[in-house]
Amino acid sequence: MTLESLPIASLPEMAEIWQQTLNWQPTDQQQKQFQQLYELIVEGNRQLNLTRITEPDEFWEKHLWDSLRGIAPKQQFISSLSAGVSVIDIGTGAGFPGLPISIIFPNSQITLLDSTRKKINFIDSILSNLSLTNTKTLVGRAEEIGQENKHRQRYDLALIRAVGTASACAEYSLPLVKQGGLAVIYRGSWTQEESKSLKNAANQLGGVIELIEEFTTPFTNSIRHCIYLRKVVNTPIQFPRAVGIPSQKPL
Ligand code: SAM
Repeated sequence: MTLESLPIASLPEMAEIWQQTLNWQPTDQQQKQFQQLYELIVEGNRQLNLTRITEPDEFWEKHLWDSLRGIAPKQQFISSLSAGVSVIDIGTGAGFPGLPISIIFPNSQITLLDSTRKKINFIDSILSNLSLTNTKTLVGRAEEIGQENKHRQRYDLALIRAVGTASACAEYSLPLVKQGGLAVIYRGSWTQEESKSLKNAANQLGGVIELIEEFTTPFTNSIRHCIYLRKVVNTPIQFPRAVGIPSQKPL
């Protein structure tokens, strides 16, 4: 399927896919915001190396659908996100998975964190273009932000996609989540070995693996996994460790 000349996400097939896979449909206003987001990212990509996913159908599947699919299996997420919760997207890059969630859940408070200032400056311009007043940005390393009182154990939900190994992602995300909250790690492939090491890492960080979900994407049938970590007790103060350590010496 190619959407070269069509506004993104506006084909009837896509309306059906949203309905079948997420049991939900974007409003006209949200469709318009998806389209604006797409155009702004393609434009921004001319100067900044934001994403290699710029073909319309690929953008729809890998950025819009995939971002929202991560929060789909947990019906209570949807209800609580609609009611309004605090969410942090760690290593957001060009704004994924955080920006589609900001568009869909205007009552939630979203924070988009990245260590690269130029990416965050770009996202600031998107937020203002799309009038997304529920969303703020933060420049910094997850290892440092996770030790700041203002952010540590303050979020109901942490999202993290394509930022490192599962253990590193757990160490970046769980310290930021409140007790009882969730961290969602978005992955491509997944192995039993990863489950074992993640279980051990989560345990040290005050979390447990609540669910590992495998699914396929609707156009290209690519395999994806989302791993849901529940924060059950406070994270010991030594985590996250210093900048670079979670990736160099995974738990
Ligand atoms: N999450 C986005 C996505 O899936 O399209 C971007 C993924 S990109 C491969 C990884 C991003 O994480 C980069 O923008 C990088 O600057 C950021 N990053 C890597 N390590 C980080 C850390 N420790 N703290 C904050 N951001 C980090």
